[in-house]
Amino acid sequence: MSEVKLTCIVCPNGCELVAEKCGDGSVKVAGNLCPKGVKFATDELVRPLRTFTGTAATAFPDFPVIAVKTDREVPKEEILRIAEYVNSLCLTKRCSPGDVIVKDVLGLGADLVVTADMN
Ligand code: SF4
Repeated sequence: MSEVKLTCIVCPNGCELVAEKCGDGSVKVAGNLCPKGVKFATDELVRPLRTFTGTAATAFPDFPVIAVKTDREVPKEEILRIAEYVNSLCLTKRCSPGDVIVKDVLGLGADLVVTADMN
């Protein structure tokens, strides 16, 4: 496999990494100033994860949409599916930051939580 250039986003140093997946499944990483860069690059090449953030509609005219996010990272390739699911929601109960509105969203092991205060 060819080399992939990545910027490590784990800390403000923003190391420019060069990563390559080897035939045995391991990932060779260069340019990292610390071991966290190896884990970041390996995760990006093997199974990239992201936290979903977006907005959900509500039934309240004074608060028509509210910010939501997953409470943990989920596979990057599932972000669009979560967005489509969130677009189908309409909250009918007022929420506060941290309230869980969907447990185990789409069976991905993450809860969907509210990050704003409607009260
Ligand atoms: S490799 Fe280490 S030092 Fe460099 S950006 Fe990532 S976490 Fe920071």
